[in-house]
Amino acid sequence: MSSRKEAAARALWSPAVRGLRAYVPGEQPQGTGWIKLNTNECPYPPSPRVLDAVREAADERLRLYPDPTALALRQTIAKRFGLTPEQVFVGNGSDEVLAHAFCALLRHGRPVLFPDVSYSFYPVYCALYGIEPQPVPLDESFRVRVADYRRGNGGIVLPNPNAPTGIALSLAELTQLLEGNPGSVVVIDEAYVDFGAESAVALIGRFPQLLVVRTLSKSAALAGLRVGFAMGHASLIEALHVVKDSFNSYPLDRLALAGAQAAIEDDEHLQALSARIATSRQWLVQQLDGMGFHCLPSSANFLFVRHASARAAELFSALRERRILVRHFKQPRIDNHLRITIGTQAECEALVDALRHILSTSS
Ligand code: PMP
Repeated sequence: MSSRKEAAARALWSPAVRGLRAYVPGEQPQGTGWIKLNTNECPYPPSPRVLDAVREAADERLRLYPDPTALALRQTIAKRFGLTPEQVFVGNGSDEVLAHAFCALLRHGRPVLFPDVSYSFYPVYCALYGIEPQPVPLDESFRVRVADYRRGNGGIVLPNPNAPTGIALSLAELTQLLEGNPGSVVVIDEAYVDFGAESAVALIGRFPQLLVVRTLSKSAALAGLRVGFAMGHASLIEALHVVKDSFNSYPLDRLALAGAQAAIEDDEHLQALSARIATSRQWLVQQLDGMGFHCLPSSANFLFVRHASARAAELFSALRERRILVRHFKQPRIDNHLRITIGTQAECEALVDALRHILSTSS
C-alpha cells in the first residue's frame, strides 16, 4: 500500500484505539525443539477424557450453532464448586471473561486498582474501556498489602497468586480486602490457584461484590482450547451475560464446550498434574538457590527469579540461543528478573544444566 493510502486508512481508526497499546503475549515459536518455559502452559497433556470428548464432538453436528447458554458446562462447573448455574459465566479463555468483567462491572468513573506489578492485560482493558487505572505498588518484598486497597475506588482486580511474582494472599487477607471494600467489585483472578493457593470461591456466599475468575489454560493443560469462567453472585454474573450477548452470543464452540466439561469432571487428573508441578517447582528452587538466584516464594506454576550478579536480559538471550524460552519483562523494577514456567522434570533439568554452563562461562 502507498504511504498516502496507509495514512488515509490510519486516519480512520477510532480515536480511542489510536492511543491503545495492545497486550503483547509471550513468544509462541512455530518450529520444534524448543523448551517452552515462557507462557505458563502445562508441560503435561490434558486428561485423556478431554481428548475423547473433543473427538466425539467432532462430527456432522458442527454445522449447528453451539448452545448459546453453555448450560451443560455451567451446570458442571456449578456442581464442582457448590454453586448454581446462574452463578457461573463461561468465555473464550479467562482473558475474554476478564474483558467482559472490565466492561460490565468496572466502569464507574472512578479508578480501578490493581497491583503494580501484575498481569499486564489489566491496563490494556482499562485503556480499551476508558477506565482510569490505578496501579498500587507491591511492598519491598513484592507482596500485595491489602491495607493499600482503600474504599471509594471503582473496583479492584487482583490475581491470586499474583503474576508474575507467584506470591499468594491467604483467605484471611482476601476476607479483609472484601470487608474493607463493600461498595466495589473485587475481581480475584485465580488463573494459578490450583498450584498451591487458597481459593476465594468459599467467600462468594458472603460477599456479593466478589467475582472469581478461573481458566482451564494452566492446571487443566488446555491453553489451546481457550476456556475460562467466572463465578459470583447471580446478579454480578447477569451483567456479564448482558455484555456477552451484546458482543457474541456464543461463548464457546462445540468442541470447547465438550472438552471443558470433561476437564472439569476429571478433577483427579488436574490434581495429579498440579502435584507433579509442585514437586518440580520445589526441586528447581533448590537448584536455582544453589546457583546464586533469589526465587520469590511461588504458589504458581512458575518462578520469579533474580540472579545475584548476572543480568536477566543476558541470561534470557543466552537461554534463547540454546532454544530455551523464559520470560523477561522490560519494565521498571522487574527488568532484573526472569519468570520461568515449571516444565517437565526433564525440562527443568535441561534449564539448570544450561544456566550452569552460561554462568560458568560468563564470569
Ligand atoms: N490471568 C492471568 C494472571 C494470566 O497470567 C493469564 C495467562 N496469561 C490469564 C489470566 C489468561 O489466561 P487464559 O486467557 O488463557 O485463560
